[in-house]
Amino acid sequence: MKKQIDFLVKLQEKDRALDWFRWQIREGPERLQGLEKELVGLQEDVEADKRRIQDLNKTQREYETEIEDGIAHIRKSRGRLMSIKNNKEYHALLREIEETEKGNSDKEDKALGCLEDLDKLNKELEAKEKGLSAMRDRLESEKAVIAKELARIREEFSTVEKSREKLIQTIDPQLFIKYEQIKATSGGIALALVNNATCSECHLGIPPQMYNELQRQDTLKFCPNCQRIIFWKKTETSA
Ligand SMILES: [Zn+2]
Repeated sequence: MKKQIDFLVKLQEKDRALDWFRWQIREGPERLQGLEKELVGLQEDVEADKRRIQDLNKTQREYETEIEDGIAHIRKSRGRLMSIKNNKEYHALLREIEETEKGNSDKEDKALGCLEDLDKLNKELEAKEKGLSAMRDRLESEKAVIAKELARIREEFSTVEKSREKLIQTIDPQLFIKYEQIKATSGGIALALVNNATCSECHLGIPPQMYNELQRQDTLKFCPNCQRIIFWKKTETSA
């Protein structure tokens, strides 16, 4: 039985290695997807800023045009002012000129505000574009690293898988079935090392008599709590 348990311990080591490889094979592409998502987010942010800049430029130009129109209107009105003889009409036109001047000054403030916002946005955009370009570089290098890693992991996976197949041939078929059953119902871990009379998986104590029997290593024993196959190693300090 001791030899069979040793085989099972080796089998579990291989199964855990295979699980770890499987996890890595999933994790690499997931990590890339995460980075790609981040990149798309940055791209969208940059595009949104560009649209805001375009809109602000347009608004700013509209104000400039309106200001020029206002100036032309004022010049024309001032020309007309000379030919007006009626006092009431004269004052009405004067008021209108003042109002247009006031409107223009308002628009100048707004156009200036646009320019200030544009300056700020352009600086932000520049920083964001730098970030985007760095992210693109990072993604490319990660892609290369992950592709290389995956190739190595797949190779190791197939090596371990082959040696596992060989190992299975040396294990009693009934015992192997039992191992697989417990593995399926115990979170992928069928075997538990007992350390100082304690199950290393569920951390509960093993009754003294069972612990003594376990150290003889001549029969198959199960943890009374988690039902895993338990084993003992001579090297540990026994309690
Ligand atoms: Zn246990």
